[in-house]
Amino acid sequence: MMGRSKQSKGDDKAKKVSSSPWAQLKEEQKQPKLAKPVQNPQGTFETARGASALQNNDQSEEVYDVHDNEGPVVHGAASETQSELDKLSRESIDSTDQHEQGISPSLTKEFDAQVRPYIDLIDNLRAYGLDRDVGLPAVAVIGDQSSGKSSTLEAICGIQLPRGSGIVTRCPLELRMKCQREKYLNWGGKISYKDKHGNKQSKDIDTSESVEEAVKEAQDAMTEGEVGISEELITLEVTSPNVPDLTLIDLPGIARVAVEGQPADIGRQIKKLIKHYIQKQETIILVVIPSNVDIATTEALQLSQEFDPDGKRSLGVLTKPDLIDKGAEAQVLKAVNNQVIPLRKGYTMVKCRGQAAVDEKQTLKEAIQDEKDFFENHDKFRVLPQDQRGIPSLAKRLTVELVEQIKNVVPDLKTDVRKKLEDTREELRNLGDGLPLTEEGRQGVLLDIVSRFKDELKGLAKGEYTTNLGQELRLLTEVRRRFDTFGTAVEGMAPSEDDRYLMIDIKKQVANHRGRELPNFIMYPVFEALVRKVIRNMKDPGELCLKDVDRSIDIVLDKLCNKWFSRFPQIMGDVKTIVSALRVAAKATCETKLDEQFDMEDLIYTQDKTYLREIDILKEKHKKDEKKRSYMSQEYGKEDKEQQEAEHILDALNCYFTVCYRRVIDMVPMIIRHQMLGVLVNRIGIELTKFAANLANANHVVEDLGVMQKRAELRDRKNRLLRAETDLSRF
Ligand code: GDP
Ligand code: MG
Repeated sequence: MMGRSKQSKGDDKAKKVSSSPWAQLKEEQKQPKLAKPVQNPQGTFETARGASALQNNDQSEEVYDVHDNEGPVVHGAASETQSELDKLSRESIDSTDQHEQGISPSLTKEFDAQVRPYIDLIDNLRAYGLDRDVGLPAVAVIGDQSSGKSSTLEAICGIQLPRGSGIVTRCPLELRMKCQREKYLNWGGKISYKDKHGNKQSKDIDTSESVEEAVKEAQDAMTEGEVGISEELITLEVTSPNVPDLTLIDLPGIARVAVEGQPADIGRQIKKLIKHYIQKQETIILVVIPSNVDIATTEALQLSQEFDPDGKRSLGVLTKPDLIDKGAEAQVLKAVNNQVIPLRKGYTMVKCRGQAAVDEKQTLKEAIQDEKDFFENHDKFRVLPQDQRGIPSLAKRLTVELVEQIKNVVPDLKTDVRKKLEDTREELRNLGDGLPLTEEGRQGVLLDIVSRFKDELKGLAKGEYTTNLGQELRLLTEVRRRFDTFGTAVEGMAPSEDDRYLMIDIKKQVANHRGRELPNFIMYPVFEALVRKVIRNMKDPGELCLKDVDRSIDIVLDKLCNKWFSRFPQIMGDVKTIVSALRVAAKATCETKLDEQFDMEDLIYTQDKTYLREIDILKEKHKKDEKKRSYMSQEYGKEDKEQQEAEHILDALNCYFTVCYRRVIDMVPMIIRHQMLGVLVNRIGIELTKFAANLANANHVVEDLGVMQKRAELRDRKNRLLRAETDLSRF
């Protein structure tokens, strides 16, 4: 990619090739070549402890001495990745002759073939912006201010990064390193970021020396003033024969106090930013800790423990071993050996350039040699095994860890991406396509939307629901529920002997009509008055039922209007007005029809055969009662007579109630359903179609800006998810 374009300039670049750990490795690798490692039945390779020992030559004895003297050592790399690491170390040694032929010094072709695709996969996914949708594996570098983060990073990548006191790293810096295999293609760099106005910027960088300036420039363009920080990522891609295949994110240091010009809560802001990266389970946390402080007190380690309590994603780096006070080495050795604050991935010790070395213009290449000499000659630290010391080991270690992490998350990523893609497609479908440019075209879109609105409304009114529809939108179900409530209320109005007030009322009326009665006949006017009273009572629940149904419809209409018309803010208002006017009118019609129904009930009429039969039976019973009463007239007092009369009237009332209650509990819901779910729904469809067809000026069919943006965002997301899906399908 970047490298290829530089092909022609390759030669003079070669002179500027940065120093790096790999150059150092070149020397190291001029070691006796080992026999090819034997793969064991588990598919892993035999431990390379022997290889390290061989590399260490005379130091190998001492490595084991330390372990013997200090008991079992929880080894940093005693994890699943150990075998990978071992394999890598061994292959590095094996690759010596390949290197002589011009292949990258650090890693073999085979290893490259294993590692690069995974790193590329994640780099690509991140480049598509997929990290906005799903968590992507990364190595995030955290540490207190001036703990040596940038120094460690620059040693790994061989590029001078901005340094100084105070917060120098003000934006997260994603450093993508690609080892360039073809020797003639040399150093290539590119920086990209979004400035504070949201514009994307990117710039090719020709020499590693210009990186520092470019990063500073980017930070200035992204943040306010000279000390502000930003959450946006600066991406720095580097292709070189001298870098590992690795992507790291450098984060601003944890600041304790604000310096002049910084907001007082700068510490909180930085912590928030760091948390944003390290809280993701996919992130490997590289915790940089100076060896010359008490590691337990470092904020970085506390933060990593907070977000990775088991320490399974954290890897410790102890810097500045040259600044340790005499006598404090034993304690630091314990820390490196994972005995102070244990992390599953353990610790590595590195030594970078101190300020004096920088001032003396020590190159990074020299610094790596310096580090090597330092460890080899240090009377306390030379016992450290190779994989726990030095920038080159750390770099290899990180590559292996990162690839391991990527392999772990690929299956989940696939599932995540598929699910997100489905959701995005669904959202896009609901939003509809963008608008055509011609007036007719736009009117067509509007008519189409009206028709979809209409269909959905009709479906809801008929009880045809799609799955996962909210309760409120299940219109017919809601309405039926209200009808049930109405039915129960009316049923509960059945006249009963137990109703003391009713009996008193009946008796009172019987007394009032005394003298007008015929023998053996119930007092009709009394009966009629009582029936009307019962019917009048039924009106209230009827009206309440209509009111409730109207409210349900109102909610549904509002939701549907928002769903279908919010794209067109200029039109939605009109649509809502039309729809609500129709609804109000329908409700008024419905009220009239209900009144009519209750007026009709006042006629007190039925040809219901069951009723007539029952009434005959009642008459017979009443006659018998009458006869009984005349035989035993002495025993019957006035009160008994009234009671009996009242009971007879109540019998008749009950008989008629059964008829009219059956009529009412059916008719009222039928009228409401017919008017509100039938007539109204049809009218809405017709009127909205008319409205859309007659729209004088289709220019009103203008989409809301927010909707257009939303659609554009969704399309972007869909595209990046599709690309990710394709990329992931290869794994
Ligand atoms: P950051 O704020 O964590 O990025 O820290 P820097 O990388 O900017 O380092 C802070 C200071 O510590 C610089 O002056 C470095 O030169 C110095 N430094 C970093 N690592 C070492 C080291 O291993 N030994 C010595 N002596 N100084 C170091
Ligand atoms: Mg820094």
